[in-house]
Amino acid sequence: MRSTLEFLLFDWLGIDSLLDRPRFVEHSRETITAVLDTCERVAREKFAPFNRQVDTEEPWWDGERVHLPRVTHDALAAYAESGMLAAAQDYEIGGMQLPCAVEMAANAFFSKASVALAGYAFLTTANANLLVAHGTPLQRAVFSKNEFSGRWFGTMCLSEPQAGSSLSDLITRAAPDGSGFQSDPLGPRYRVTGNKMWISGGDHELTENIVHLVLAKIPGADGKLLPGTRGISLLIVPKWLVDEHGALTGERNDVVTGGLNHKLGLRGHSNALLNFGEGKFTPDGGAGAIGYLVGKAGEGLRYMFHMMNEARISVGSGAVMLGFAGYEASLKYARERAQGRPITSAGKDAAQPPLRLIEHADVRRMLLAQKAYVEGGLALTLYCALLVDDLRTGTGEQARQSKMLLEVLTPIVKSWPSEWCLEANSLAIQIHGGYGYTRDFPVEQYWRDNRLNMIHEGTHGIQALDLLGRKVVMNDGKAFTVLGERIMASVERAQRKPSLALHAAELATALQALVIATQSAWATGQPEEALANATPYMQAFGHTTVAWLWLDIALACGERDDDIARGKCSAMRYFYAYELPKAGAWLAAVASRNQIFHEIHEGWL
Ligand SMILES: Cc1cc2nc3c(=O)[nH]c(=O)nc-3n(C[C@H](O)[C@H](O)[C@H](O)COP(=O)(O)OP(=O)(O)OC[C@H]3O[C@@H](n4cnc5c(N)ncnc54)[C@H](O)[C@@H]3O)c2cc1C
Repeated sequence: MRSTLEFLLFDWLGIDSLLDRPRFVEHSRETITAVLDTCERVAREKFAPFNRQVDTEEPWWDGERVHLPRVTHDALAAYAESGMLAAAQDYEIGGMQLPCAVEMAANAFFSKASVALAGYAFLTTANANLLVAHGTPLQRAVFSKNEFSGRWFGTMCLSEPQAGSSLSDLITRAAPDGSGFQSDPLGPRYRVTGNKMWISGGDHELTENIVHLVLAKIPGADGKLLPGTRGISLLIVPKWLVDEHGALTGERNDVVTGGLNHKLGLRGHSNALLNFGEGKFTPDGGAGAIGYLVGKAGEGLRYMFHMMNEARISVGSGAVMLGFAGYEASLKYARERAQGRPITSAGKDAAQPPLRLIEHADVRRMLLAQKAYVEGGLALTLYCALLVDDLRTGTGEQARQSKMLLEVLTPIVKSWPSEWCLEANSLAIQIHGGYGYTRDFPVEQYWRDNRLNMIHEGTHGIQALDLLGRKVVMNDGKAFTVLGERIMASVERAQRKPSLALHAAELATALQALVIATQSAWATGQPEEALANATPYMQAFGHTTVAWLWLDIALACGERDDDIARGKCSAMRYFYAYELPKAGAWLAAVASRNQIFHEIHEGWL
């Protein structure tokens, strides 16, 4: 994986060119390599050996406290020690001012080693980053700073038992807290009441405090909550109250665990139902959990999207790395296990020694498919991270285009790896045969851990609605047009290379089919008709995007003729022969506006 990571970062994305920008001038290829070295080592020593242990020794709740294995504490302490919590932040607040693409690449080692352990850290960084972008200077100094140092961890509290995909149905409320409303230096003070479900890292004792970022509705003058997403605000609700210097006051806020969720996978990561303001504690003598408003009232969802968009690239990256872990495990297994004999025109010769699994064409099919999914997924996540860098440090038209591309690719970077790197995990189990179905080999855990990724941070179906319902049509389809131009630029370059010309033509055809299907889906202007096939549309969009990245990677291989380049070109050829043609079938349903899902009667299901 390291060689692929470096190839993609340096040879394909040309990350060195970012280093001329003022924000990154202190960095060089050497400093980036040093960061990758450190992260690879810490992940190998402190995360990977304990991935199975944290799966079997699930977090448990004794009614008061959440218990985690000691190794979880040690791993997260080592991560904080590495400085990665603030990797992309300014030097002044203890950061390293790393490009986002490098941060993503470095964090990939941790996801691969143990996605359950890494999750605590990634959530904390995303939480603190949100406050850097939208909090007051004091909120940054008190909350973000202590999260970046690893003294406190953070969460994101959106979901409620009755409101998952539909955040407009949130009923957690935040009411102004009397005289404290105006006088608290940490921000306008509210009293929060409600229940938040599925909160990752929602309770633990890894750190002395937990900073919850909570979406809640501020009631109108009549005491009623506004329907829809209007009125959703964002509040900082610390588990333990703190003063304006960041010292704990010793008083518990009224945010209390109602229980832990017992999950299929990702078991090493605690996940809690949190009750706010139910009266177990009366912080500062009042009822309700104390929360501090972030930014303006009613803008909470917009601020939360800052965290969610980053989290969505991170979800994609986590899915890729689980896929990578399975790929490497099954590659090793296929090289070692012998089974079966070659079928020749003379039949099988039982006297011959058995072949290793890797010598069978069908096993190679499964290995190459995994390689195409996980390396293609890694390219996608790094490309999107580079767009984030452009957005933050680029200028003019380039930054504007990167913003648009990121908008349209966010549903893809979240959903494509979640689906296809999960498929990679399934293939890794298949290669292990019966052994893959046992807990004696790691591949079943990778699959279980990865199964979450199509569900959280906006389900697969919700991402698809976002893509076809909003992203490809917004601003008269400008973002989609920019993506199409990028794809065609690669097509034109590839057309000039005889070995790639055929693939270039196939990609141009796939893009054209996508454009036509988009128009056909919306031809009647009826969202019900267009969006009935949003998921197959997203699958085709994702496959076309990844086919583009594979062609671009093949271009970056240039005249190289080593194993790395040959491997990349083989994965590209696999993708064009076996994967891209699937897009045609998905798009046929989209373009014909197949309405079977509306037509089928409930009673027929
Ligand atoms: C392990 C885990 C960790 C999580 N961590 C967090 C966290 O830290 N913070 C947090 O706030 N939340 C978290 N979540 C919650 C997660 O984001 C939600 O589970 C997710 O948004 C889906 O909500 P739901 O479970 O209520 O499912 P529902 O919204 O009920 O969806 C069920 C199914 O219906 C489909 N569906 C729903 N609405 C529509 C629609 N309009 N059109 C088409 N299909 C639709 C969905 O795609 C899905 O397939 C976590 C969940 C899990 C399982």
